[in-house]
Amino acid sequence: MIAVTLTIDDRLVSAGDDDTILHAAHDAGIAIPTLCHFEGIADIGACRLCLVEIEGSPKLFAACTTRVTEGMVVRTDTERLRRHRKLMIELMLSERNHVCSVCVANGHCELQDRAIQAGVDHVRVEYLYPKFTMDLSHKRYGADPNRCILCARCVRVCDEVEGAHTWDIGGRGIASHVVTDLSAPWGDSATCTACGKCVTACPTGALFSQGATVGELEKDRSRLAFVVTARKTREWVR
Ligand code: SF4
Ligand code: SF4
Repeated sequence: MIAVTLTIDDRLVSAGDDDTILHAAHDAGIAIPTLCHFEGIADIGACRLCLVEIEGSPKLFAACTTRVTEGMVVRTDTERLRRHRKLMIELMLSERNHVCSVCVANGHCELQDRAIQAGVDHVRVEYLYPKFTMDLSHKRYGADPNRCILCARCVRVCDEVEGAHTWDIGGRGIASHVVTDLSAPWGDSATCTACGKCVTACPTGALFSQGATVGELEKDRSRLAFVVTARKTREWVR
């Protein structure tokens, strides 16, 4: 690893050349909004909330999947970026039926938090209102694809941390949705160990513990951070 120096929001920042802009900014105490990013699992740049500007290019770049380079000049909080982030959140809200008042994650939802931060008070595009069926076949957990933002955190955490690879994304475009095994009911899954990591990682109310009532679904993200760190350091004590 070679050390590089770059500028983020007018601050000189040092990072390793294999670091992403998101990590370099985070280490420097500069917050960039994210939804699909989850510490300890691979980044895929799915949600596009972490878009940043890089001097010399008219394009926007996902901070979670763009590596730092020497002399790079990055801006994370411009009027253009704020406009894009607000629109991205509105598009996510319009794509499914996100009705917070009847959602188990109301008050504990990262999508809701990002929407509030971005100042989303209404959605300027038409709602698509697709009809997805809930899967309550698992003995402990439930899945409501109507709350899903296709961030694939569940897919990655189940594959990379639990090693079960129960989840995948099925379908194309607007019909894309998360599936367990080969689109069989979650309760019939031969691979699921019922560890609950996917439920913990899910940023919305799309995956939940059965019996959770509206506004009750508080997810203990530190549990996953513990597992990820423990696997790296081979230490299993809290
Ligand atoms: S409960 Fe664990 S094994 Fe089952 S789908 Fe979720 S992360 Fe994978
Ligand atoms: S179920 Fe949750 S974690 Fe999985 S893709 Fe949908 S929103 Fe993301």
